[in-house]
Amino acid sequence: MKTLPFTLDQLEAIAARWPTPFHIYDEAAIVANARRLKAAFAWNKGFHEFFAVKAAPNPHLMELLRREGFGSDCSSMAELVLAEAVGNKGEDVMFTSNDTPAAEFRKAAELGAIINLDDITHLDFLERSLGGRLPELLCCRWNPGPLKGGNAIIGKPEEAKYGFTKPQLIDAYRRMKEKGVKRFGLHTMVASNELDPQYIIDTATLLFDLVVEISREVGVTFEFVNIGGGIGIPYRPEQLPMDIERVGKGIEGAFKTHLIEKGHPAVRLYMECGRCITGPYGYLVSRVLHIKDTYRKYAGLDACMANLMRPALYGAYHHITVPGATSDAPRVVYDVTGSLCENNDKFAIQRELPELHPGDLVVIHDAGAHGHAMGFQYNGKLRSAELLLKPDGSVVQIRRAETLADYFATLDYNGLTK
Ligand SMILES: *Cc1c(COP(=O)(O)O)cnc(C)c1O
Repeated sequence: MKTLPFTLDQLEAIAARWPTPFHIYDEAAIVANARRLKAAFAWNKGFHEFFAVKAAPNPHLMELLRREGFGSDCSSMAELVLAEAVGNKGEDVMFTSNDTPAAEFRKAAELGAIINLDDITHLDFLERSLGGRLPELLCCRWNPGPLKGGNAIIGKPEEAKYGFTKPQLIDAYRRMKEKGVKRFGLHTMVASNELDPQYIIDTATLLFDLVVEISREVGVTFEFVNIGGGIGIPYRPEQLPMDIERVGKGIEGAFKTHLIEKGHPAVRLYMECGRCITGPYGYLVSRVLHIKDTYRKYAGLDACMANLMRPALYGAYHHITVPGATSDAPRVVYDVTGSLCENNDKFAIQRELPELHPGDLVVIHDAGAHGHAMGFQYNGKLRSAELLLKPDGSVVQIRRAETLADYFATLDYNGLTK
């Protein structure tokens, strides 16, 4: 069962102040979820979650998470600047990028962020980018290749562009040691939207094994292991949420048997989840503009794929609630569309919903990660506002809606901008 943190009357009052469409995030639920994640890993001294900024790059949300002790996982200049703005710097920032420009390595180094290399050639590139020196602490991203089965969004590791092979890792840590790097971490990220606890436990186990192997082979000791993000959320109402306590317990077991008992000192466990931190606690609120009846029935919303691209991009399921519908309302099968001139601009295809009418509010669930963040302006579509529902029931705007002036701001054409 998918529930809403507001009633229809509350939602109409919010929509009277901030016209639809808008994204709204539930602060109390985000905070409770953050605390649950920390509790599941409390056994690990130094456990740290770096919120993957790309999931919801809004500094108000990042600040909320920072208050819960979460750092930032960044992969671009803008994300580094956002992390800095909310006060995350030093080793509260993980810079996990790929195909990285030199200026971004310099910015990460300036913040004192933990730099996570994506490729063996980046070691020399980083050194050159930083004027011939390397940071004291470095991490490398492992790509386990055929060792690890595929995942629907991220694909098979051996087809993924990310990370080092194992021989490259051994070579890289050896060279880092020679070049005077003193502190080491190891990272991988092979899952996306994964709901099976065992997959995450297995990934951590592979990393612990590799830490032991590399430390023996190269003679370095690791400080941390970063198991990446990728914990999924139950987009479909019949799916169960990830059993995060089981993940915590399972990794604790592997930590003992695959790391400590193999003679490697304890490491800090790092994680860089995005989706499961904010995803379920953000909602896209929209209004029905038109009902159309041709070969199919269409419910046309005032939101479009510029506000939430996942259904069009991956055929992803997003649950839809019609908060005003009574339980005895007739059920009708719709394609729920936006107004973009692309036929994949559909939030749902052949979805049975309570009968809709122009003016009805609809709420699209699980839009709190990779929702507003993936927004774009193709077809002259503007990104919506983002709102935050506070624990006391009040609502604040944390990003205004774009205007035509924003859309034209980069053009230099008389009559459009000035
Ligand atoms: C996207 C990404 C994450 C976060 O992934 P989620 O699926 O949102 O948890 C973490 N690390 C890296 C390197 C990423 O690219």
